[in-house]
Amino acid sequence: MNILLLGPQGSGKGTQAKRIREEYGLAHVSTGDMFRAAIARRTPLGLEVEPILARGALVPDPLTIGLMRERLAEEDATAGFILDGFPRNAAQAEALDELLSELARPLDVVFEFQIADDVCIERMLKRARAEGRPDDTPEAIGTRLAIYHSETAPLVEHYRTTGKLVGVHADREIGAVWAEIQSALEQVHVA
Ligand code: AMP
Repeated sequence: MNILLLGPQGSGKGTQAKRIREEYGLAHVSTGDMFRAAIARRTPLGLEVEPILARGALVPDPLTIGLMRERLAEEDATAGFILDGFPRNAAQAEALDELLSELARPLDVVFEFQIADDVCIERMLKRARAEGRPDDTPEAIGTRLAIYHSETAPLVEHYRTTGKLVGVHADREIGAVWAEIQSALEQVHVA
């Protein structure tokens, strides 16, 4: 099963992706986690993207798309994957369509996490206090949400045309959101 999670920062995509991974044994592919790991290891990629992440901007498409291409070629992704944080703009969505058709691994379901900005902002500020993520500052949060609305949210219409889009009421506690996701996945699973 190949799953895409779309939704703003702080909507709970990462939390639900981990749950899907545990339950269905799929690879959790998060470009944000991959960039943070590269930064932590001080690799050339990490050093290049560190200031970009800190200000909440998008890493250039060629870098991000290249990373995704390599990641999906890894062994654990062949059994199925959960994309979390990619694609984030039209060029990435187009590259993903091409890549998945090359690999003959189409998406089975695209979840759209629906939630108001003020709830996301509150959650990110709380996460900043708990985890100290450098891009959970009020400035970077503002930039990230603005980019989400201008560049990423329009992708919802792209995926709606595929008939694979499922809306999720993400403004609820983790268990309730999970129940909604799981029931949609069970339908895909048995289909
Ligand atoms: P996330 O954890 O998904 O919110 O990602 C954290 C940061 O990593 C983003 O604010 C961007 O700077 C960078 N990033 C993650 N995914 C992408 C992507 N698909 N394209 C460009 N930049 C990305």
